[in-house]
Amino acid sequence: MANRCIIYQQNGDPTQVLSAITFPKLPSPSPNTVNLKFLLAPLNPADVNTIEGDEPVFVGGNEGLGQVVEVGDGVEGLEKGDWVVMDKPQLGTWSTSRNVSFKDVIRLPSAGLTEAHGATMTVNPTTAYNMLSNFANLHQGDWVIQNGANSAVGQLVVQIAKERGLNTINFVRSRDDMEPLVKHLEGLGATKVLTYDDLEDRSLRGKIKEWTGGKDIRLALNCVGGEPTTAMAKLLGQDSHLVSYGAMSKKPLSLPTSLHIFKNLTSHGFWQTNWTKTHSRAEKEELIVKLAEMMKEKKIKAPEHTIETDEEATTKIRDVFAKVAQGKFGKKVLLK
Ligand code: NDP
Repeated sequence: MANRCIIYQQNGDPTQVLSAITFPKLPSPSPNTVNLKFLLAPLNPADVNTIEGDEPVFVGGNEGLGQVVEVGDGVEGLEKGDWVVMDKPQLGTWSTSRNVSFKDVIRLPSAGLTEAHGATMTVNPTTAYNMLSNFANLHQGDWVIQNGANSAVGQLVVQIAKERGLNTINFVRSRDDMEPLVKHLEGLGATKVLTYDDLEDRSLRGKIKEWTGGKDIRLALNCVGGEPTTAMAKLLGQDSHLVSYGAMSKKPLSLPTSLHIFKNLTSHGFWQTNWTKTHSRAEKEELIVKLAEMMKEKKIKAPEHTIETDEEATTKIRDVFAKVAQGKFGKKVLLK
């Protein structure tokens, strides 16, 4: 099969500017570089912003699973056949192959992992893990509250919290048939699943007190912003932390001043890209090994996904982005 990649020659609406092109076979790698074959590369919500934005990145794709096919002189710690994930943003993973510096990728211990696990390793699982670990000092039996709980990140929060013995209260948008979603999240380990409408119910506070045995909830994770987040923050206890990582509703976040004054609430933002830039290679490798271990032990499932291999790639990729823009694509899309 010919080498292909998804490019954009100017920033703009992904449904207009993305195109699939073919390119010749890569030459042998120069010193300190490796040639990768990409096995799978996801399409994440943040990719829309990158393509729309003003940074001149021309081969799309930030995350992906590569396999080393050829090693240049001077490369350390990588061999032909190794699986790798990206250690640098926007390397252009929506491509069949690519030549990269060996320092820009991290070897993934691949035994027992699926390609879908590997391809979705560096953005969502790391985000979920870090948000649960880096803001509040939580112990087994503590409670965490989150919205957007059915997002890929939210589902990872549920699973990693479960593995750590933490309880989760999970808010999602209501839908006609709630039962399958509730069952799905409970199956992953969610302690309670509620809707944003439940946040308006005056009896909710009492119910939560019963569930938690009166224990303060000290960590809330915010994927959506807007009113439901304000209401969720009011459920937090003393010395708590609200961590915002997404703004899916596109609505601003407003917090009552009283939460800061009387409950000593701290509101943070979290951006995994910044964590990656500000942490050492050893710290990143350690996190990836930890997550890979949880995946192998089936404590973290790969996200529900569809794999796109369509030869009509330009039409297909634009179509996928049109659905993403309308919030209609329920499963993670992985490009092959
Ligand atoms: P998914 O596509 O898996 O999930 C999207 C979620 O957003 C679903 O829960 C969906 O709920 C919800 N949603 C969509 N539209 C709205 C709306 N108008 N109002 C309320 N909820 C809405 O996405 P990911 O898990 O991959 O990413 C989720 C968010 O996290 C994105 O904003 C992404 O950019 C961000 N993110 C941030 C990171 C960071 O480092 N800060 C890292 C990774 C992700 P429904 O099913 O009801 O439509």
